[in-house]
Amino acid sequence: MALKTIDALDLAGKRVFIRVDFNVPLDEQGKVTDDARIRAALPTIQHAVKARARVILASHLGRPKGKPEDRQKLTLLPAAERLQQLLGQDVILADDCIGDGVRKAVKDLGPGQVILLENLRFHPEEEKNEELFARELASLADVWVNDAFGTAHRAHASTAGMAKFVKEKAAGFLIQKELEYLGKALGSPSRPFVAIVGGAKVSDKLKVLENLLAKADAVCVGGAMAYTFLKAQGVEVGKSLVEADKLDLARQILDRATARKVDLLLPVDHVCGAEPKETAKRVVVNDRAVPADLMGLDIGPKTLDRYRQRILSAKTVFWNGPMGLFEQKPWAEGTFAVARAMADSPAVTVVGGGDSAAAVEEAGLVEKMTHVSTGGGASLEFIEGRELPGIKVLEE
Ligand code: AMP
Repeated sequence: MALKTIDALDLAGKRVFIRVDFNVPLDEQGKVTDDARIRAALPTIQHAVKARARVILASHLGRPKGKPEDRQKLTLLPAAERLQQLLGQDVILADDCIGDGVRKAVKDLGPGQVILLENLRFHPEEEKNEELFARELASLADVWVNDAFGTAHRAHASTAGMAKFVKEKAAGFLIQKELEYLGKALGSPSRPFVAIVGGAKVSDKLKVLENLLAKADAVCVGGAMAYTFLKAQGVEVGKSLVEADKLDLARQILDRATARKVDLLLPVDHVCGAEPKETAKRVVVNDRAVPADLMGLDIGPKTLDRYRQRILSAKTVFWNGPMGLFEQKPWAEGTFAVARAMADSPAVTVVGGGDSAAAVEEAGLVEKMTHVSTGGGASLEFIEGRELPGIKVLEE
């Protein structure tokens, strides 16, 4: 079903509550180290400002536990300052997200002005989706706009609960874009459609794999989860991470791929170390099997070449999950090479959030991708075919 987006509403003079995702990384000094999420929300915010709405922004930041020092560490002040620079206009930071002070500040807000409410998760009622709290948030607004794709898979007060207490609601442009690309990549992909799936565990990606097997022409597997598949095929994997209780499941997935005529590619060589440490000696093993005293920590050069060829000749590529222990330099090449291959490919390229999005960002290749999702968990749940609560309430 097509969602109503913010541009379909008349916003002039109205109190427009936009749930954004400003859950940005901060350094020790509390400075925003990556403002991608703030920038991603700009089109919606700028639209509301231009339409002369009275703009109320709300977000969570981190996981405050109710300790007094959390109030200082997890304030949205750094995000407000960054937003102010990006917007080129004043952004008022409220000292809370509910209460009389906030109500007054919102009342005083003029058309085109912007206020950012303080971290929603300073109130545990937010994550519990308590009705009273949702009603209080809703009482600040005439219109509720959800543009926080990163939390769309959570039914919290601001991401879902408050929807039924406002007069009008709509999706923001970021959510619209996320659904368009994630939906298009999976719904009606140009073929060949190649999926690259990595990460630690088969069990975490089970639903994603099942869904991709129904849609993709080829699935290239990397990361630690590849060793569970290799072991399931009877290949020696040495000290590599294996989910011993998921071997049957891995076999079922391999059988399903064969039955559906989907090429499920596994590593044919590896970059190994004696232990998962930065200081461990990097050993390239030119074989499917991993020697008994080594761990597979990245895909090897031959595997990389095969995956790269698939990516270059695809029309659609979807990627989720690192190809190795990419946080440590000796085992990072496979992951960054996948990012480069996608950047070089003429295909529609969609990166499904989390570690893969971080790698693309670090490699400076975001602009070369068709779409890099801002939501790790949310994009995975979407690919799994699950209904996202923050989207569902927009449809009702
Ligand atoms: P996931 O959250 O399931 O996507 O897993 C990502 C994590 O798996 C990252 O922290 C990677 O460093 C780690 N990882 C990927 N491949 C390997 C590997 N071969 N051995 C150990 N850890 C790995």
